[in-house]
Amino acid sequence: MLNDGGTSVLECIVTKFGGSSLANDEQFKKVRSILELEPTRQYLIPSAPGKRFPSDEKVTDLLYACHSLASEGRPFAEEFRKIRERYLSIAAGLHLKVDIASALDQVEQGIAAGNSADWCASRGEYLCGLLIADYLGWRFLDAAEGIVFSENGRLLDDETQAKLSAALADRKPTVVPGFYGATRSGEVRTFSRGGSDITGALVARAVGADVYENWTDVSGFLMADPRIIDGPAEISSITYKELRELSHMGASVLHEDAMFPVHRAGIPTNIRNTNKPYHPGTMISKNPPNELSVPTITGIAGHKGYSVISVEKNMMNSEVGFGRKVLQVLEDRNIPFEHLPTGIDSMCVVVASEALNPAREDVLAEIGKLVEGSGSVSISDQMSIIATVGRGMVHNCGTAARLFSAMSRARINVRMIDQGSSELSIIVGVNDSDFEATIHAIYHEFVG
Ligand code: ASP
Repeated sequence: MLNDGGTSVLECIVTKFGGSSLANDEQFKKVRSILELEPTRQYLIPSAPGKRFPSDEKVTDLLYACHSLASEGRPFAEEFRKIRERYLSIAAGLHLKVDIASALDQVEQGIAAGNSADWCASRGEYLCGLLIADYLGWRFLDAAEGIVFSENGRLLDDETQAKLSAALADRKPTVVPGFYGATRSGEVRTFSRGGSDITGALVARAVGADVYENWTDVSGFLMADPRIIDGPAEISSITYKELRELSHMGASVLHEDAMFPVHRAGIPTNIRNTNKPYHPGTMISKNPPNELSVPTITGIAGHKGYSVISVEKNMMNSEVGFGRKVLQVLEDRNIPFEHLPTGIDSMCVVVASEALNPAREDVLAEIGKLVEGSGSVSISDQMSIIATVGRGMVHNCGTAARLFSAMSRARINVRMIDQGSSELSIIVGVNDSDFEATIHAIYHEFVG
């Protein structure tokens, strides 16, 4: 949006606050002051209260524990007492009027009555939503009235968009608890863990937000895993496509499924830190605006524990359908593949060892039949995959050369190379024992 002076004005911001941002009454106060800084922050999606200190328990975990004790016919009062205390102390600390004690009693009765695990877990966000709505003086919209799931627990995207946008059409400041919705017949269903991020994205799309702010306890994404690189640089701007590549390889801050609704709707997501409200965080967008200079690489992420199935066969290149038959062996056993580098008479299929191991002998035997008499198949393990991601690679010559030279100087043997077709990433496979050294070599080559 532009105002008369041509400067940008944000009209509507949807905010999602994670569990650590709502862990106690002090955190609630920080949330309120963040909202007061920017009156166009009009919608809030809370998680359930998270950990206040490292050894603390998350309310969602406690709720799952209550459900599982109740379903075994065992007492759950002790676990529920901890939950009750969390909410009562927030309500007392903020002098709230909402009758949270009765709402807690109803949840306890619901657990005892044998409600589903989804229902029990969802109460963490539901109760937190009641508290924050009361504290802010905002409307509370039960997510069961806006987010629609199929009977088998899949999000019904179009129906959700229609229902949510109708429910929020009056543009009143509203709290919508994260993580759950309901089927058409009213049964509560949840997303997978961390799913409040998805609720936030769905609300942002439904109201046509200018920005979806996702407030958490870190100041956005880092260029590499801080457990490997000491104090890695922060990523200030990244595209949804780049982030998808990095998240797939393990960079986690945001639920993977939270990107799709906002990406498609062209709404940027801003990862922010509740404890550092003036830090700009990481902006994720389709096309970052006004890019004067784009860094060559945006981030590095990787994983250990892959296996390589190497298949050789004479004249493989002229046998139409051979690759499909190999992949069919995996598909029949529900094993997804990660990469598929091919030669003329050979192909490699890279799969997560965890997914392959239960069917390993079977896979070897079946592919063995396909190459009988004219080839061979073998599996080698302990390979890591490292993705170096950057939209800047398209514009820069020699990125691959620099990357491989850095690896060679560090005496790392490259076992596999794959460059994504969009020139957005370079993927290398190395021995698990070289994993950390590879990330160091690449990071220091490009970032310093
Ligand atoms: N409270 C849920 C969880 O712990 C959902 C969320 O926080 O996003 O997974």
